[in-house]
Amino acid sequence: MSNENPNVALKELRQRLNQVDDDIVRFLAKRLETVGLIAKEKAGSTQAIRDPEREREVLTRVETLAQSLGLSAPLARKIFSEIISYSVSRQVASLAGGEGAATEVAVAYQGSPLTYNNLAAEQYVASQGWGGRFVGLPTLKQVIDSLASGAVDIAFLPIENTVAGSINQVYDVLREQDLHIVGEESYRVELCLAATADVPAAALRRILSHPLALDQCSAFVAALPQARAEPFLDTREAMRAVADAKDPTLAAIGTPEAAAAHELHILNRNVGNQDEILMRYVALARSPVSVDVRVPCKTSLILSTRHEKGALLSCLHILAEYGLSMTKLESRPRPNRPWEYMFFIDFEGNVAQERTALALDALRSEALYLKILGCYSARATPAEAQSTTLPEAVEAAPVEASSAAPPAGRPTPSAPRASKHYRLADRATHPEDTVIRVGSLLIGGTGFVVIAGPCSVESEDQINRTALFVREQGAHILRGGVFKPRTGPYAFQGLGRDGLDLLAAAGKAAGLPIITEVMTIDQVHLVAEKADILQIGARNMQNFPLLSAVGKVDRPVLLKRGLSSTIEEWLAAAEYILAQGNGQVILCERGIRTFESATRNTLDLSAVVVLRERTHLPIVVDPSHGTGKRLYVAPMAWAARACGAHGVSIEVHPDPDKALSDGDQSLDFPGFKSLMEGLSRVRV
Ligand code: PEP
Ligand code: MN
Repeated sequence: MSNENPNVALKELRQRLNQVDDDIVRFLAKRLETVGLIAKEKAGSTQAIRDPEREREVLTRVETLAQSLGLSAPLARKIFSEIISYSVSRQVASLAGGEGAATEVAVAYQGSPLTYNNLAAEQYVASQGWGGRFVGLPTLKQVIDSLASGAVDIAFLPIENTVAGSINQVYDVLREQDLHIVGEESYRVELCLAATADVPAAALRRILSHPLALDQCSAFVAALPQARAEPFLDTREAMRAVADAKDPTLAAIGTPEAAAAHELHILNRNVGNQDEILMRYVALARSPVSVDVRVPCKTSLILSTRHEKGALLSCLHILAEYGLSMTKLESRPRPNRPWEYMFFIDFEGNVAQERTALALDALRSEALYLKILGCYSARATPAEAQSTTLPEAVEAAPVEASSAAPPAGRPTPSAPRASKHYRLADRATHPEDTVIRVGSLLIGGTGFVVIAGPCSVESEDQINRTALFVREQGAHILRGGVFKPRTGPYAFQGLGRDGLDLLAAAGKAAGLPIITEVMTIDQVHLVAEKADILQIGARNMQNFPLLSAVGKVDRPVLLKRGLSSTIEEWLAAAEYILAQGNGQVILCERGIRTFESATRNTLDLSAVVVLRERTHLPIVVDPSHGTGKRLYVAPMAWAARACGAHGVSIEVHPDPDKALSDGDQSLDFPGFKSLMEGLSRVRV
């Protein structure tokens, strides 16, 4: 090499480097080609995609080779971990049929291009072998709306960070929305400090970044007393602001890609509180996906527990009993329920496997509310947990399915499943009475609850006076219809939303929880937000889409018996709600159609004793609709208590003769007072 012409030598060396780089890329492509052949080989067998033993072997081999060549072993490990992880995801994608299908997906994320969110979304889409169109939007709500409206196929959201913890807003979205987790990604967050000039960190006065990124670098920032952290819209905009200001005392924290885009100097490549910071993302879609049983898979769900000691523990115990390993447990407050919590659980398991399906059944009967958020191919899993996914996948092979015996005392594949239309409602599945909690009130078990109020909410004065009176007499829950199922279209149809507000205000003033009827699916969310219990009327007992809709919300449901429904049909209807994950069903006997015309309906009190035997769900009796006549209401309420009902529902009106609906069967105030006095004398 000649000293006279250093530029020529440098050029030559760089060319040599380029060739090596090209070779590296070619070798990577060749490796991937071989991975594709392996995937084809595996496709015809039941062999699990992930083989932790083999992965360990590969890593050890390359580490040893690196060391013998004077290279850094940790560097070799890091690079090959990435390569293996990518190879596995390509194999998974090929099993899902993604390979070669040239799928194009539109993906929404929060923020600007070249932010962590954007780069992680790109990494996820590439790992699936898809092409992507990426849409950065300013707010989380816009991201969700664009998915819900069909503008994009996937909403890609950060859910937790190894330094900053969980991102609560995303958990709330998962609870509220009917969206599904279809994938996850683990993204290595490189927190780069960048400025317009190569200045020492001590010269910096202001450091701009997204609040979440600042959280993750709190130690670094705190060590610079002269510098002030400034929250910014996103990390990319922070970089742009630093570049635009051209002030060398200003720096931003963000991705190296964004720093490069704005031609900033990277002062430090890792200012995070930990050496390695990972962000876990979830991909949400409008419909769920099914995952091949050979692929390591996770299932995410939300549950609220029964009002019992050790309730959460028994749910977790079910996962353990079925050999499902839990990877995450997070609690969030239940909306409008101070100091009550819902639990978000991730575990390794695939809903397509019998073992997982049985565990979910057991969980449904143990929990009061359960919603499956998604079942998806796992990417963010602690290293040592991977080995447990292998036996699970193998177990799914058809020959072995029958030998996968469920734990003692838990449902077996063939047990109550076959003949009956209901099994979650069946007392055989859950021998103890279900007790439903509404605020501080318990419904079911040994208690007796009185629901009282007008047939319809008619005016502020009417509902307020009734609320205060029934409360004074010892009623526990205020009723009042606002969406009314009337036999004829010209009859009073209820006050709708305005009525709901009046009912909610009256309940609040009297200190009573409220119940009201929902007639259509689009009323469910509106009513669930304001009412403590949703009522499904007799005419809708077999409106299956409506039952499924109330099964998806975390609110107790009072299911009235259909006008001509058998007890079996009624329990099957309850099962529709339970099967969606809402275990908070109260059955309400309200009389059935018979040849008898002396009463409006025939109140079937024998249903109470039959139900007490067949189901664990609470049972309430409505003698107002059951008889249709004021005079008969109190005696039948007393009889209901005597035969083992868990409560009654009574129509009360300040002036029944002027009532806009069901005046004949409504009690006036003195009538309700004497009903209550009689009830307290009933011995059970
Ligand atoms: C009601 O409770 O107001 C009502 C309409 O009842 P049902 O659905 O039992 O007729
Ligand atoms: Mn009525």
